[in-house]
Amino acid sequence: MPAASLAPVPPAAPQHEKLRALGIMALNGMFDEMDGVGVLRQAVEELLPGDIAIVSSFGADSAVLLHMVAEIDKDLPVLFLETGKHFPETLDYVETLKTRLGLTNVVALHPDDKDVARFDPNGDLWETDPDSCCHIRKTEPLDISVAGYGGWVTGRKRYQTVERGVLPHFELTSDDRIKVNPLAYFSDDDVAAYKARHDLPEHPLYHMGYKSIGCAPCTSIVAEGEDPRAGRWRGLNKKECGIHFDFNGAIAKPMAAQDLNLFKDGAFAADPFRAWAEGDDPAKVRYTHVPLAVFVENRDAFLANPHPLGLLVAPGEDVNVVAGDLGRFASIALSFPAFTDGRNYSSARLLTERLGFNGELRAVGDVLHDQIPLMLRCGIRAFVVTHAPTRHALEQGDLTTVDLYYQPVGGTEVPAGTRPFLRRAVETV
Ligand code: SF4
Repeated sequence: MPAASLAPVPPAAPQHEKLRALGIMALNGMFDEMDGVGVLRQAVEELLPGDIAIVSSFGADSAVLLHMVAEIDKDLPVLFLETGKHFPETLDYVETLKTRLGLTNVVALHPDDKDVARFDPNGDLWETDPDSCCHIRKTEPLDISVAGYGGWVTGRKRYQTVERGVLPHFELTSDDRIKVNPLAYFSDDDVAAYKARHDLPEHPLYHMGYKSIGCAPCTSIVAEGEDPRAGRWRGLNKKECGIHFDFNGAIAKPMAAQDLNLFKDGAFAADPFRAWAEGDDPAKVRYTHVPLAVFVENRDAFLANPHPLGLLVAPGEDVNVVAGDLGRFASIALSFPAFTDGRNYSSARLLTERLGFNGELRAVGDVLHDQIPLMLRCGIRAFVVTHAPTRHALEQGDLTTVDLYYQPVGGTEVPAGTRPFLRRAVETV
């Protein structure tokens, strides 16, 4: 089969030549611990000119970073995660800082209405599953927005939590973006001194004891001497909202490119889903591909589970048995255990053409280069690729074309003259 160009595959070459030339270690070594403005200027003017955004919570310390931004360029995009759960005082503070600092490009990022309707229809997901709540209200909207930039700037600081204690000025993330933390080495006193020096307005709740301010349901007052972020998700084993996780839950731990094996939308990406494991609780799992038989056996528990779920379909299994529950799955994985086993091509067509499944349909198992065009024709849009030559071809943007078709797919007839010889012979009889 001849090689042809597949739709958009990002260049294999890294975007950040300057960063790579310097090396992340050397770059971090170039700046004094306190040189927040220098770090920000380096990122905005040298590393990623015109290709960087600021992410701000407009919380207790946000005025410091935003003041630095305004000193460098008031038109820089400032992304504010408007989760729909903020204190009214925070929304007022957004307007106060915009006016006071002259910021011209503050953009509110809202959660997807469909996600909210599906996963948090009553607005109380934060009580039962704050990770998923943060995912739909923060991580997803931010991921979509920062996809348009080569890097982004955060206001995180080392002193805030033990977990942030190793935070560098510059991080290279698993999706090949630069994350910049100009305030990494600022202490609580440094922040207070900066605010005083520049006469910056305080968040209206700060003097009431709120030392770190996020969404209203998940923020509480901090006692004297407590970790400033102790009031966030108090009582829960949760320290970050997810936007600072690098898929594996760690700060500044880059994921190696070869570990990104989900090919989707023309690029390899980290896979948020995992496989079902023995001992998993149907009522609690999330981002898990549940085997069809397990789902059927525990259907009530899975339907009551508020988290995003996937379904795993083995060859020969009948997807009609879950026809009424397809809206429950964010992703369906069709297993192709061997090149010769094509039974799940039919499942793909059934799901997309007759049952109307419009979530992510992915192929898992022995996914090979030559199969992918056929899978695409059947509505499969994501591929878990472990076969090295297939991976290489996809990275190069090369896919084989299909010259012969046995049958039409959906409402599309096969191109004239493309049926194989025997079929053409039958057609002309
Ligand atoms: S901080 Fe709380 S309310 Fe806000 S998105 Fe996260 S869980 Fe939901």
